[in-house]
Amino acid sequence: MPFFINVILPLPLEKHFTYNVSKEEAQFLKPGMRVAVPFGKSKIYTGIVSEVHQRPPEVYEAKPIEQILDKTPLVTAGQLKMWSWVASYYMCSEGEVLRAALPGPFLLESETIVQLAKDVEIDDDALSDDEFLLVEALQTKSSLKINEIIQLLDRKTVLPIINSLVEKKLAVVNQEIYEQYKPKVERFVKLHDRYLEEAAMHELLDDLNRAPKQREVIFTLFGISAKSAKGKYSVKVSELARKSGASASVIKSLIDKGVLEELKLEISRFSFDLENHGKNLQLNEYQEKALQEIKSSFESQDVCLLHGITSSGKTEIYVKLIEKAISQGKQVLYLLPEIALTAQLIARLQNYFGEQVLIFHSRYSVNERVEVYQSVLQNKETARIVIGVRSSIFLPFHDLGLVIVDEEHESTFKQYDPAPRYHARDTAVVLGKLQDAKVLLGSATPSLESYFNADHSKYGLVNLARRYGDVLLPEIEIVDIKEKHRKKRMTGHFSDRLLEEIKETLKNKEQVILFQNRRGFSPILECNTCGHSPQCPNCDVSLTYHSHSNQLRCHYCGYHMAMQQKCMACDSPELSTKGLGTEQVETELKALFPDHKIGRMDLDTTRGKQGYEKIISAFEEEKIDILVGTQMVTKGLDFRNVRLVGIMNADTLLNFPDFRAHERSFQLMLQVAGRAGRTQKRGLVLIQTFNPHHQIVQQVSTNSYHEMYKEQLEERRNYKYPPFYRLIKISLKGRDYSRVNEGADWLALSLKNTFREHVLGPEFPPVARIRNEYYKNILVKIPQGQSLSKTKKLIGRILQSFKAIGAYRGVKTVINVDPY
Ligand code: ADP
Ligand code: ZN
Ligand code: ZN
Repeated sequence: MPFFINVILPLPLEKHFTYNVSKEEAQFLKPGMRVAVPFGKSKIYTGIVSEVHQRPPEVYEAKPIEQILDKTPLVTAGQLKMWSWVASYYMCSEGEVLRAALPGPFLLESETIVQLAKDVEIDDDALSDDEFLLVEALQTKSSLKINEIIQLLDRKTVLPIINSLVEKKLAVVNQEIYEQYKPKVERFVKLHDRYLEEAAMHELLDDLNRAPKQREVIFTLFGISAKSAKGKYSVKVSELARKSGASASVIKSLIDKGVLEELKLEISRFSFDLENHGKNLQLNEYQEKALQEIKSSFESQDVCLLHGITSSGKTEIYVKLIEKAISQGKQVLYLLPEIALTAQLIARLQNYFGEQVLIFHSRYSVNERVEVYQSVLQNKETARIVIGVRSSIFLPFHDLGLVIVDEEHESTFKQYDPAPRYHARDTAVVLGKLQDAKVLLGSATPSLESYFNADHSKYGLVNLARRYGDVLLPEIEIVDIKEKHRKKRMTGHFSDRLLEEIKETLKNKEQVILFQNRRGFSPILECNTCGHSPQCPNCDVSLTYHSHSNQLRCHYCGYHMAMQQKCMACDSPELSTKGLGTEQVETELKALFPDHKIGRMDLDTTRGKQGYEKIISAFEEEKIDILVGTQMVTKGLDFRNVRLVGIMNADTLLNFPDFRAHERSFQLMLQVAGRAGRTQKRGLVLIQTFNPHHQIVQQVSTNSYHEMYKEQLEERRNYKYPPFYRLIKISLKGRDYSRVNEGADWLALSLKNTFREHVLGPEFPPVARIRNEYYKNILVKIPQGQSLSKTKKLIGRILQSFKAIGAYRGVKTVINVDPY
């Protein structure tokens, strides 16, 4: 009897491929192990074994595998189950899920490029003969494809050698330029333990009588780290130097003598003191009540939504739940949207849980991701708690007890491109089911879908409506800028009210955040004579003016040109800029407040290495008085000294053409408002708008989540949107305009034959051409009660027929399930 294995290949192919193995191999192989297999004419791929069996494939002759790459499974049974769920729910292949789930170096293939790592010393003696040969080959050629290595070494079994070099950090594959995430580290000193003895201490002080400067340093150290503690706690070197008036060399000599011990500690970005935030964290009565409610909800339900207003202390409740789960020996996953994964939060959690916290950041290098993956797989002590962005739901957990999805309403939990187009929050709920873990969703402004689920008892619901320390919610004031324009009370884009409050805040040495939804100077340049505005040659959008670089740029493809002095169409020099962006706000501010430091945080200013962290640090350290930013300033940051938040223009948010625009505006405005007044003094939020009576603006100003929820839900019901109807978006794209058009018509017609009035489109999206490809969208709405899986099958079949039509071969289709 011959033996076979099924293999999942990292390709957009639905089927698992069947390969031929020997009896010995069949006995050794288990699902989840990697094998290198031939594919097509000359390709080699790394795939994951999904099944070992004895059924020969019907339509093709099974080929033998090249080799086995693992001794034990790299992928757990639980992961395989989840991949299959993700693939079927999001209508993609398991291979595409595999690609998202495994760090690149695990998936070597014939086209993979291998290089030696930079700046490492290679100890020849530590290499096996094979490794030595490969290193030698890589030293002569700076980079080699795996196919080339196979030829060079004249053998097929090169993948394990490459793997082992990667694991030893000697080689890198498909090197991407990753910005390394570095937590902020600062130098601390503490008194050496031996001086904790009274006698030793006296002796030291006697000794230091001859070195008064050093003696002063020691006394200052006592002073800072609580008198009774006598230097037991560490103190920042910078603080010690400042307070004792000693120079760096005096402190250094104390370190050299062994009196002080030097430590490099990761520090939190805002100064809480370590003692209060140690292990014995005390919840206040409201937090305690919420915690108990969550626990009792978990007794009967698997998912619970914690609706806790900004700064209510949700993180501390998470900490208690995490403590409980790890004390039972379970793993914990703490999911965060990309942008909220800041040094602030990491430092806070590392403070509680120390070494048990592992971070999975998208800015990590591939090698670091390999390390994280292995640590979780081996259930190491250092991997009890994983804090990560959306893709961390694919890590190889096997004893997960708790999943926390913080800021669950955030749209960055959804992956748009490439497939799998999954939503990490929804997938986390499924992960919880598969792993028998509880799932806690947390937000100050829950998504309508989650709140709906809680409202309908599908999830538990717990409310926390008090800010920690009884800090008041900021006062929110609406500023009618239509009226202000009429009365000539505007200076540029600033109302007199806003300017007045900015002045007041600055006078009191407090800080200001100004929120403007758009980056750039001003979206478009328009000719006053003929109305022409410069367009991107590759996309159907106008170019945006960026004053900093004095360029016109495309936000879709990055195309840019120098700022024009004359109209490109009619040569008229009378050009004006329309709209408002962060850069323009910054420029106006600089003119209005020339003596204050103004910072800007948007995609343009945070692109560079550590750009984001740098701006946040500068703001925290109060080196910036006014921070102008896009959504980036809204996310989970805890600034102590911000009194005033200004929303420059609420209307651009409200008028966005999307069924979620109102919900999102509400969330954004309330989140950005939550940055104001997080300490005792009450904060102030000013919302400038042309529509002061807009229901969303009103609901934000009165903090009425419920009202917003009820009203939006009614609209969703009326217009047939989620949570009442499910959506599947099918996009067609291609370089040939008329084929895309005709193809879309054909496809929409076939879909309408099956789904009738529940098919919308085809329609051009707002930007119908990007990078020279034309786009057209079709939306299928699925009413409650209509089987989701049957619907997907039918759509799948119609797409099959579509792909079989020769005329539409150049037209690609992209399916997006829950495209919101
Ligand atoms: P949220 O995540 O709900 O916006 P945070 O968890 O950031 O709120 O809490 C707001 C502030 O209150 C933080 O500075 C936090 O350190 C502090 N805080 C909250 N709960 C406690 C507690 N039980 N003990 C000490 N400080 C707390
Ligand atoms: Zn013109
Ligand atoms: Zn473009």
